[in-house]
Amino acid sequence: MRGLLVLSALLVAVFGKEDFVGHQVLRISVVDEAQVQKVKELEELEHLQLDFWRGPARPGSAVDVRVPFPSIQAVKIFLETHGISYTIMIEDVQRLLDEEQEQMFAFQARARSTDSFNYATYHTLEEIYGFMDMLVAENPQLVSKIQIGKTYEDRPIYVLKFSNGGNNRPAIWIDTGIHSREWVTQASGVWFAKKIVQDFGQDATFTSILNDMDIFLEIVTNPDGFVFTHTKNRMWRKTRSLTPGSICVGVDANRNWDAGFGMPGASNNPCTETYRGAHANSEAEVKSIVDFVKAQKNIKAFISIHSYSQLLLYPYGYKTEPCPDHAELDQLAKSAVTALESLYGTKYKYGSIIDTIYQASGSTVDWTYSQGIKYSFTFELRDTGRYGFLLPAAQIVPTAEETWLALRTIMEHTHKNPY
Ligand SMILES: [Zn+2]
Repeated sequence: MRGLLVLSALLVAVFGKEDFVGHQVLRISVVDEAQVQKVKELEELEHLQLDFWRGPARPGSAVDVRVPFPSIQAVKIFLETHGISYTIMIEDVQRLLDEEQEQMFAFQARARSTDSFNYATYHTLEEIYGFMDMLVAENPQLVSKIQIGKTYEDRPIYVLKFSNGGNNRPAIWIDTGIHSREWVTQASGVWFAKKIVQDFGQDATFTSILNDMDIFLEIVTNPDGFVFTHTKNRMWRKTRSLTPGSICVGVDANRNWDAGFGMPGASNNPCTETYRGAHANSEAEVKSIVDFVKAQKNIKAFISIHSYSQLLLYPYGYKTEPCPDHAELDQLAKSAVTALESLYGTKYKYGSIIDTIYQASGSTVDWTYSQGIKYSFTFELRDTGRYGFLLPAAQIVPTAEETWLALRTIMEHTHKNPY
């Protein structure tokens, strides 16, 4: 198996992108604990090369899994043998990837300003970094770019700062794309950046927020992974750091934070998608934010954006006990998803991470909450699994627009409730 893995990695290195021809995404419905155990067995069959998009299994919940073509028959037979029902969510992953590439290719003309930039298509790291520079050049009095660190592969990590003046004002943090394959998040981050500039001075409520508070926005939080999704493997989630003694690459940057690190809800196996890393903050992409947040000392809301599943979540992820601000965060989450739904009717669930999806240790917002940032939230944007990580570009702008209404709700609340 190891030889095969090495061979396939080598082929990709020589011939370019990994292809997903005939790969299917199955939605597995697990009804009870016995079926949960069976799905766990399936997860442990490493030779099947399964990629769990949504899970792990809990009774009464659905698990989405990408199954490579050579494993499809084995997986279906396994499920049918154990009486576990499933549906095919995506017939052929490669067909969606081809459509995505065609769409990007058709709109690849380089924008000369952020007005002519195409917000309705997916962009490369270079294009997004180019966009950020244009936005700063066009709005030097409001927007600046801060380099907070460098990635494992030595790429700069940038944060946009939106500030109408003052010194070390209370701030709101938003990040997108810590998991690189969640492309609708980085695309939404670009749209948010433009929206902030457009609404400042136009929208009275938003302007009053920016007159008192700064906004930090990290659009590409995992630049190495993001480049890898464009050049080699569209399904890459983790960072690109090497683990000594393992042939597997990367750490789950949303399990690498110093809150419940190492507890159940992450993996110590470098070959899994939820590998937590050798120690907390081992990843440069995480450490850069940790250092920035600690130096800043004034961040009052921290919002980390993922996809997919349509959820708005708050601490804790690593333990079941309600966080001290549970009631307020729950009420605020309710208001935020109500605002979000008002635009296109998109339905969100909300709650604590552990109650709503699963136990996750070492996650971003558990750490920010532990640092006294009360309004710590994680979004899972569209959709609920029809396209999963491969959300068609036509949904980028509607997704960003509706999410903005939820972000606005959280920002307004933070503004009105200083602490
Ligand atoms: Zn994610």
